[in-house]
Amino acid sequence: MTQHSPVWQKIDAHIEQNLDYWIEQLGRLCAQPSVSAQNYGIQETAVLVAAMLREQGFHAEIMPSDGYPVVYGESAGAADDAPTLLFYLHYDVQPPEPLELWESPPFELTRRGDNFYARGVSDDKGHIICRLAALAAVREALGDLPVNVKFVIEGEEEVGSPNMPAFVEKHQEKLAADACIWEFGGVDHEGAPEQVLGMRGICYVELSVQTAKIDAHSGLGGSIFPNAAWRLVWALNTLKDENERILIPGFYDDVLPPSDRDRELLAKLPDDSAKVQQIFGLDGFLHGLTGGVELRETAVFQPTCTICGLTSGYQGEGAKTVLPAKARAKVDFRLVPDQRPDDIVAKLRAHLDAQGFADVAVKLLGGGRPAKVDPDDPFVQLVNETAVTVYGKEPIIAPLIGGSGPNYPFIHTLGLPLVAAGIGYPGGQAHAPNENIRLDDFIKGIQHTARIIERYGRQ
Ligand SMILES: [Zn+2]
Repeated sequence: MTQHSPVWQKIDAHIEQNLDYWIEQLGRLCAQPSVSAQNYGIQETAVLVAAMLREQGFHAEIMPSDGYPVVYGESAGAADDAPTLLFYLHYDVQPPEPLELWESPPFELTRRGDNFYARGVSDDKGHIICRLAALAAVREALGDLPVNVKFVIEGEEEVGSPNMPAFVEKHQEKLAADACIWEFGGVDHEGAPEQVLGMRGICYVELSVQTAKIDAHSGLGGSIFPNAAWRLVWALNTLKDENERILIPGFYDDVLPPSDRDRELLAKLPDDSAKVQQIFGLDGFLHGLTGGVELRETAVFQPTCTICGLTSGYQGEGAKTVLPAKARAKVDFRLVPDQRPDDIVAKLRAHLDAQGFADVAVKLLGGGRPAKVDPDDPFVQLVNETAVTVYGKEPIIAPLIGGSGPNYPFIHTLGLPLVAAGIGYPGGQAHAPNENIRLDDFIKGIQHTARIIERYGRQ
């Protein structure tokens, strides 16, 4: 089917005619703050999102989780034999701070030129509107939806989705579907659509040690008191060597190397290593890597052990001769298939004990499993093919990205192929001040989502 097929023309016409309405709806949703990190406006936003689903003819309910509620929605009336498409989205946003760097109020959708600014306009409220606009256009063009639709719109994505795996597990039957469209998507610097097939997992821990009740005069204790800062530094020193090899026994046991197909996709990705090196002012990359497929493979298919922060003793101006009683470090491990966060924490604990650091406490602050989708899944192909008809370019396909998200329960518990499609672009400043989208990306994201729905319902 080409770009000029009568159905897609009808769909595109409907999108164009209703664009102002959907921008208004986007403004309505962005005007309601929903900062999960601060529990600000969460309940109100769940109520609003459920109302917006109902206005579009979907059943909606606000379902409790062990944290903030999940807005669940579903369509009524499609034929039993029609496939079911599940949309995963989130209604929470990142804190807007620092406020002084915003050029317009964060919770007021503001247009400047062809860009729209607001906290959440891209991540992820714009995607909620994108899905609703696409569904409305398809329904209008065909008279009814050709697929069954389900929505899982959570309120804790920006704080690591701690309750999503258990929620999906508990409601497996209700959430059963055939394919899933993820919360994000968009174009790269050249305007090519980006496809993301997998994400690394994460295991985030806090290591802490206390060696005395109170800090001491370093002249008094330096020779005879244990020092918390040294204890922590020595413990950290056992985690990784200078060749970046993580030394926790069994750490690499479950690591799967990339498949030949993964390597083939990595080889096709654009080489942005020079740009990255320049942006961050790096002298070079680790392992002497200079770019190419080897750098890209190492960047995402290797697990990490990153010291994210270290705190102990005195760090103010000048000298203070103190012997710290407490020290603390935050460490994250990015995990690759098939590593598991609970297993990694257990191995870390055993390793510290074996190394003589039973006094170093380990607290798990967050975790999620890695997961990726088969690049040759028919649904992935359908999404990539329809992308070409909208963007006029072949999609850039990443078999795995370095970041993390709650895709595991959707891929493995529900067994769904999961794809990206959406309205983002590299200048969107998600999580930062002046988050924004471009009008053209908004329209194309709606068109692409609509084409996926229409074509998926036809096969
Ligand atoms: Zn986000």
